[in-house]
Amino acid sequence: MIEYVLKRSHKRRTLAIQVKRGQVQVNAPTAVSEQFIAQFVQQKALWIAEKVQQSLLLMQEAEQFQKSYKSGERYDYLGKTYRLKIAVSSRYRIDWPDHHVYENDLHENHLLESHLLENRLLEKRERESQTTQELEQEQELVVSVPSKFMLSEEQLSGYLSKKIPESYRLRAQAVITERVEYYASVMQLTPSKLQFKRYKRRWGSCSAAGVVSFNWLLIMAPLWVIDYVVVHELCHLKEMNHSNKFWRWVACYYPNYADAKHWLQTNGHSLQV
Ligand SMILES: [Zn+2]
Repeated sequence: MIEYVLKRSHKRRTLAIQVKRGQVQVNAPTAVSEQFIAQFVQQKALWIAEKVQQSLLLMQEAEQFQKSYKSGERYDYLGKTYRLKIAVSSRYRIDWPDHHVYENDLHENHLLESHLLENRLLEKRERESQTTQELEQEQELVVSVPSKFMLSEEQLSGYLSKKIPESYRLRAQAVITERVEYYASVMQLTPSKLQFKRYKRRWGSCSAAGVVSFNWLLIMAPLWVIDYVVVHELCHLKEMNHSNKFWRWVACYYPNYADAKHWLQTNGHSLQV
């Protein structure tokens, strides 16, 4: 027997089943009998069970990556994990880890053919993965907080729960805009506008009017993954679909896109702040 909440509406013409936060809801027209609805739900039992399981898993994952904004907690930035360190200062600030490697690459990239660029990024990626986990864990992300927000632990984490995501969004805006500018000049494509939002299950989008949007949570992913999303969205300025032609465009500027897609499928859910 499947338990469900029944919502009736005189505007509704069809029966529909919804699974939200592990709960089943049936939306029905006023005239349909309860017996008919029960039968309908029973027929869809397998589908419902699958959806409930998926939904519970999503909730678990969200909980697992929910931040408490306390010292020592792990935060990702450009594909590396850092320990949060809270320092006292006269004004709020995050000291973003040095990313001169990225700036150098950006400079060198202008001189490289796209396939060479790709190789260069792959090399960098291998270098990065050789860094030991231990070393990465020792690195800190220092957040400076005015002392007046440090009266209690609750007050501090409440303050940081607003400030840290905002800092990540601004950082994403700065870094991703630079990447877009670089690829836009190489690909000779110009978005009409860039937007940075927090999406639940997408990394970017491109509208018919040429507005390109990015999920700012991407700033936690490695740069080579960010670059893939940038190239993907810019290619939509030429092809507004996911046809073979579209993927050929992507491959022109980002030959190894399959790796980046796979990275997002495997790790995307953990990018939370
Ligand atoms: Zn797409």
